[in-house]
Amino acid sequence: MDLERVELLHVRLPLVRPFVSARGTTSHKDALLVHIRAADGAEGWGECAAEIAPTYAAEFVAAAWLAIVDHLLPRARRGESLDAVRGNHMAKAALEMAVLDATGRRDGHSLAAMLGGRPGAALPVGVVVEMDDDVTAVAERAAAHAAEGYTRVKVKVSPGHDRAVVAEVRAAVGEGVAVWADANGSYSLADHADLVNLDVDLLEQPFAAGDLVDHAAYLAATSGAAWPTHVSLDESIDSLHGARAAIALRAAHSLVIKPGRVGGLRAAVAIHSAAQAAGVDVWCGGMLETGIGRAANLAVASLPGFTRPGDLSASNRYFVRDLTEPFVLGPGGTLTVPVDAGLGVTIDVDFLRACVVRSVVL
Ligand SMILES: [Mg+2]
Repeated sequence: MDLERVELLHVRLPLVRPFVSARGTTSHKDALLVHIRAADGAEGWGECAAEIAPTYAAEFVAAAWLAIVDHLLPRARRGESLDAVRGNHMAKAALEMAVLDATGRRDGHSLAAMLGGRPGAALPVGVVVEMDDDVTAVAERAAAHAAEGYTRVKVKVSPGHDRAVVAEVRAAVGEGVAVWADANGSYSLADHADLVNLDVDLLEQPFAAGDLVDHAAYLAATSGAAWPTHVSLDESIDSLHGARAAIALRAAHSLVIKPGRVGGLRAAVAIHSAAQAAGVDVWCGGMLETGIGRAANLAVASLPGFTRPGDLSASNRYFVRDLTEPFVLGPGGTLTVPVDAGLGVTIDVDFLRACVVRSVVL
């Protein structure tokens, strides 16, 4: 695709309420967006999953900006492969999303159809409950999400902050709502006893991202238990190579695919295929994306191997006003995969422009 005009936009949107994680508290969402216009007039949007600081992933907004301006876009314009640039998965994914959106909008194909998914499908989705030292506050928020219609909630756990929060949340949401726990790599194998008795339907990333061997040892040690805890890997799945290693080592029962983190939508599909061939489930994670990235995540999550509800909550979970028409929770705690061409969402350009912190046309 001949990228005649490319605009990068750093936008900042207010959140419904401050988002609390182990990395701190933020009252707004910063995102790097890519808007392209090809020589044939095709236009598309991409969203970079990078956060403002390199505390969750090594990439961050300003770094992704430079990677696109100095290295990725010049190569794309020369028709060269982006593989020559190491890493920078989130920056590559943003550019790829814009090109796929433009291609789909031009040719009249939805992104879900282009990737082999199911446009129009109603996908069960889950919601992440913010961290809080006050266990009762976490349980109350989880119950409120269950009342909205979500059929699975996910809480953050860490050593010493696990059993009580899971028990309270379990009691608060009641039967029929799955309770997942995300450890973000905060445990070690020595915590084995605490983990095996955790009453969760899924445990995400108990050990550090690079510790595939420890995850494999934990799975091997617990496989004979009456109810072995289902373990998912999130941070460890940073590329197709990481996913293949996790599968080969039997380090997890299922893998979290975050398209931005693994290098884009095509890479996400490749991981999905590798997992499917090995009989390993996958599900789709989120990075607090605006409606642009959320539409792309839903398209990927509609592929057949995505068998568990992803972190793909409705727009009102995060934003007062989104950059697209809002994604609304449907019956059974579902979101509908867009059916229109490309990403299948309409960009609220006026609001988007009002959110711009910095932009450049290339
Ligand atoms: Mg996670």
